[in-house]
Amino acid sequence: MVGGERTERLRLVAATANPHKLSEIAAILGSAVELLARPADLGEVAEDGDTLEANACLKAGAVCGHTGQAAVADDTGLEVAALGGAPGVRSARYAGESADDADNRALLLEVLVGVADRSARFRTVAVVVFPDGTEVQAEGTTSGIIAAVPRGDRGFGYDPVFVPDGEDGRTFAEMSTAEKNAVSHRGRAFRALAEQLGL
Ligand code: IMP
Repeated sequence: MVGGERTERLRLVAATANPHKLSEIAAILGSAVELLARPADLGEVAEDGDTLEANACLKAGAVCGHTGQAAVADDTGLEVAALGGAPGVRSARYAGESADDADNRALLLEVLVGVADRSARFRTVAVVVFPDGTEVQAEGTTSGIIAAVPRGDRGFGYDPVFVPDGEDGRTFAEMSTAEKNAVSHRGRAFRALAEQLGL
């Protein structure tokens, strides 16, 4: 635990500009945290680390440096067994530097055509960086399989092609935010982070 027993809400500036991610994080952390939006005047932060940990720290560190307030970030990768763990840290740019979510999903389904082992996992690293330089980090993973075709219109990113293990066969994009958060990599990472922060 960091900072002793908390009597007031912890104020954290979010590093993400992705509204889906932001609403998931807000729902997972709940009322123990006052989550502030990423400052509009902060430019894009280069996510050029070799690991999810490095990129999460880059993002949270940049926001903390810019605002002078504690900042929270996550970095997530989809690790596909048959691809040796790819796209992993390159998940956002899998189909190219200017690829969007649909491009990335399409390429993934294309390279997995005829591949029997469709197992994969999402891994999220969540980090809080405080103005004094303290970093608190946690990880969450969710195993599943890559669906043959996209299903569902909720969520974002690879959600329409990811079926989490141990559920009812729906993709993340067919689940409500609460259902996804209950079993997701991000849910697990941020609940572990909250525990470490004593929230
Ligand atoms: P980042 O963590 O925002 O850098 O995301 C890396 C890549 O993974 C992007 O292509 C995202 O769209 C995707 N991604 C991140 N989190 C999720 C998720 O919860 N579900 C599906 N795709 C995700």
